[in-house]
Amino acid sequence: MKVLVLGAGFGGLELTTSLSEALGDEVEVTLVDKGEGFVFGFSKLDVMFGRTESDQVLHPYEDLVKPGVTFVRATVTAIDPVARRVETDAGTFEADVLVVALGADLHPDATPGLVEAGHEFYTVAGAFATRDVLADFPGGRVVVGVTSTPFKCPPAPSETALLVHDFLTERGIRDQSEVALVMPLGVPIPPSPEASAALLEAFAERGISWHPGELVVELDGDRKVAVCASGTELPFDLFLAVPVHRAPLVVQESGMCVDGWIPVDPLTLETAYPGVYAVGDVTSVGTPKAGVFAEGQASIVARELIALARGEQTDVTYDGTGICYLEFGDDQVAKVQVTFLSGAAPHGDMEGPSTVLAQDKATFGSSRIRRWFDQEWSTT
Ligand SMILES: Cc1cc2nc3c(=O)[nH]c(=O)nc-3n(C[C@H](O)[C@H](O)[C@H](O)COP(=O)(O)OP(=O)(O)OC[C@H]3O[C@@H](n4cnc5c(N)ncnc54)[C@H](O)[C@@H]3O)c2cc1C
Repeated sequence: MKVLVLGAGFGGLELTTSLSEALGDEVEVTLVDKGEGFVFGFSKLDVMFGRTESDQVLHPYEDLVKPGVTFVRATVTAIDPVARRVETDAGTFEADVLVVALGADLHPDATPGLVEAGHEFYTVAGAFATRDVLADFPGGRVVVGVTSTPFKCPPAPSETALLVHDFLTERGIRDQSEVALVMPLGVPIPPSPEASAALLEAFAERGISWHPGELVVELDGDRKVAVCASGTELPFDLFLAVPVHRAPLVVQESGMCVDGWIPVDPLTLETAYPGVYAVGDVTSVGTPKAGVFAEGQASIVARELIALARGEQTDVTYDGTGICYLEFGDDQVAKVQVTFLSGAAPHGDMEGPSTVLAQDKATFGSSRIRRWFDQEWSTT
């Protein structure tokens, strides 16, 4: 069986690892990605706030050596889901099974004024560049703002506001600064009232102003104001942006998208095309766009493909669960176990925050790197 996996992010790495572990050379897996290596989303915040160095958080794909898996560094330029044929700048690939795990592309230029007057911190390059901007910031009005929905890792803007507070405090410039958070959600973590209450309390304690139900649609660099969809204006000296998210253009052009993202069967992750699956941020499966969900979806697809390769049946289906870690700053991390099961109201319970859970989060990262790259990695 030939399996072609597009995208070596959270979903693609988990899928290829599971297939290799179970089937080794019995399947021919080709994993395609245009990048040099993998970077965890949370590592972007660690670099941005000077908690680690950029060269410590990139896991090069050249270190990916697994039985049955060939990594190809290439840009996907066309996808034919009917023929399961993919064009790349390194040639054409065909497969019995195609898995699209290309994530979400980020478009700071889709928000007028953002590129000129603000700083997005969701791409690797953007987060690394924001580190220098923060290091030189003399204090003033900081706005952390979301510019569209859906967006990856819904807790990340809240975490960023809390980490900005810590950063300014450590540098002795918190007194001469203001921190505001603009989010389209009514509460910080909608499935978990407990986590939302804890975050709102943390904002209040730290004097972070919270602007729920608002999207920033424009930055006016001359007047230094962020303009919200409602018309509300927020003055800023430093604007930290969650940019517009879209499915990669090559996915949109493949004809697989409906309303911007790939629809899948929420239990099996199969698309409308036979032999074609999609996992992670590129889908509209109904879970938030986060690595833990991409990973959970990939492991279900892996189990289906392992059963297929062995001529067996599987009735294992995706349950929409995942663990989200929440950074409160000051080495305090909380853990929320959330469930987005199709047909039921999303719900989640919170543990912490505590320093023990900060260690738990570090273990979460290092265990993935050990599993995917066969390497030891410490986040500190
Ligand atoms: C600041 C921040 C913090 C976050 N924190 C967390 C967290 O704590 N926990 C969590 O679970 N999630 C977190 N996330 C979200 C998480 O990073 C993503 O949801 C997750 O990576 C999605 O996995 P994926 O496999 O769908 O896509 P990705 O991991 O984005 O992988 C997609 C891959 O496709 C490749 N690709 C795209 N287009 C092409 C093309 N045309 N040709 C070839 N290759 C291509 C890309 O290079 C990329 O490697 C965070 C995100 C951010 C920005």
